[in-house]
Amino acid sequence: MTSPTRVLVLNSGSSSVKYQLLDMRDSSRLAVGLVERIGERTSRLKHTCLSSGETREQNGPMHDHEAALKAVAEELAKDGLGLDSPELAAIGHRVVHGGEFFTEPTVIDDTVLLEIERLIPVAPLHNPANLTGIRTAQALRPDLPQVAVFDTAFHTTMPESAARYALDPRIADRHRIRRYGFHGTSHAYVSRETARLLGKDPAEVNVIVLHLGNGASASAVRGGACVDTSMGLTPLEGLVMGTRSGDLDPAVIFHLARVGGMSMDEIDTLLNKRSGLFGLCGDNDMREIRRRVDEGDEQAKLAFDIYIHRLKKYIGSYYAVLGRVDAVAFTAGVGENSAPVREAAVSGLEGLGLGIDPELNAVRGDDARLISPASARVAVAVVPTDEELEIATQTYALVGRE
Ligand code: AMP
Repeated sequence: MTSPTRVLVLNSGSSSVKYQLLDMRDSSRLAVGLVERIGERTSRLKHTCLSSGETREQNGPMHDHEAALKAVAEELAKDGLGLDSPELAAIGHRVVHGGEFFTEPTVIDDTVLLEIERLIPVAPLHNPANLTGIRTAQALRPDLPQVAVFDTAFHTTMPESAARYALDPRIADRHRIRRYGFHGTSHAYVSRETARLLGKDPAEVNVIVLHLGNGASASAVRGGACVDTSMGLTPLEGLVMGTRSGDLDPAVIFHLARVGGMSMDEIDTLLNKRSGLFGLCGDNDMREIRRRVDEGDEQAKLAFDIYIHRLKKYIGSYYAVLGRVDAVAFTAGVGENSAPVREAAVSGLEGLGLGIDPELNAVRGDDARLISPASARVAVAVVPTDEELEIATQTYALVGRE
């Protein structure tokens, strides 16, 4: 019998599961889908089989992740792609926090599960959901290799000077406080694809990756290895995001508690869910913000300007960290789609060798592309991210050729 070549990628959130089934012979997608509102009466599963082009929905209560994954398995089976298929090589799970312990994708066993569980205090929103997804998948196919691909793993190459906060190391180590970074699967994929776009080996190029989605992070990648990234202990640090503040003076928190009378939970919610673009102007979708800016809305304009100012500061600081930059790559929802954000972020940086060709910047498309003028010293690129493909590739590399 030939070896199995399919990988199911699962991204389990607290109330959702996103999934994709890929055939690793040609990295093609066989099925994609999403279950939303798990635990509510109005749960919804949307499933698409790519070969037939058919999309189906299941609506109605799915009480937990087990019910959701069973429904996913049913839908896959209807297309002849069931979890019991001998073609399935492994299930790859996105796991948000792998701490310092997990530097690579890892086949899941009891020790790995225990370690992911031990990291819950530093990832209280994400790791419990990821664990539930893994345990449910294990129950459905106990014989199948399950692989954890960590959002933090790509950043474990950061030097201590970038990974540590200026805190007493005894206190920091006791509480596992350090800069872990997130979106690592995307930064890894995009930095490699950028090298490919330049026709070079990733080991030869230095890239600044700007992952600008609803969550946003920047990274400095030297010769394929991350040397700095903007998210820290949690995904709150760094760039201005859809609803997260990103960087602020830590004393703002004491001030809100002591002077503003807010509880720690209230401050947590404020900074994570009601700040960033949303906090500044009431919208977190860049399309809406740009529409308002174009209509002369001052509040939206200020939110846009703060977003861009922070982005520029990170481009400049990562330029300094890297010393030599070959490319700046824009990715994720905003980075891939918003020409005005790309233009504003790079404008004024000609002294650093950065520039954008307005015509190339205006072109829309799904492929990686250069948007800098041919004469520019530093390439500026739009490189669509593909975290699912990266998870599947890493999973298959680990188990597929046994
Ligand atoms: P992500 O988290 O990568 O899925 O990105 C989601 C965000 O991308 C949305 O909140 C929007 O702000 C942004 N976005 C998506 N499409 C566009 C678009 N066509 N133009 C500008 N921003 C977009």
